[in-house]
Amino acid sequence: MNKILDSLEKLYEDVENEFSTIGKNYDFNCSGCVTNCCTTLFYHYTFVEEYMLRFGLSKVDSDIQSSIIENSKRYIFKKENFSGKGKFKMMCPANKDGLCIIYKYRPMICRIHGVPSKLAFPNGRVDFYKGCEVMASKFFEFPYFLDRTRFFQNLSLIEQKFRKEFGKPLGYKFKKTIAQMILSKDLDNLDV
Ligand code: SF4
Ligand code: SF4
Repeated sequence: MNKILDSLEKLYEDVENEFSTIGKNYDFNCSGCVTNCCTTLFYHYTFVEEYMLRFGLSKVDSDIQSSIIENSKRYIFKKENFSGKGKFKMMCPANKDGLCIIYKYRPMICRIHGVPSKLAFPNGRVDFYKGCEVMASKFFEFPYFLDRTRFFQNLSLIEQKFRKEFGKPLGYKFKKTIAQMILSKDLDNLDV
């Protein structure tokens, strides 16, 4: 397991370095931002990130853990009862007073979201993202962008290793919010 988590940590580090390089081109950083993007609805696609997240959660005080679990229940309830009009927005259950409680263990998309980026799919499709609301509102052109492709390819390889080692079906379509990952029972049999 350690080897797998080390690979994921290394990947996260690479993503953060690239994020920082791209961000510098726009003189971009998050300090003082009042548009907290942790209210954005993100989905995550890997067991290994769920494991990392829960590992991070296990390191915080039990009263904070309990409040994150309660937040997660509220999040799921509100999302299930969302009218569907406009975009669903609600503060991530792992955020307290504007700060991520499991920052060191947060998933890939939380590390990439702010700067412009692109993602190339195996079928030739290429998606382009302008970055967070703040970034998108400040610029008209985005000549510098982070290429998500190799990072997600690498994440997929790490996920395959994780699934093989822990008997999770390779074909299983994982798609969860942070709240769902926090409340999930899928990894309860692993020593998180
Ligand atoms: S995991 Fe952390 S960084 Fe990601 S949305 Fe939640 S609070 Fe924000
Ligand atoms: S990524 Fe953008 S929206 Fe999120 S905290 Fe940073 S500047 Fe604000």
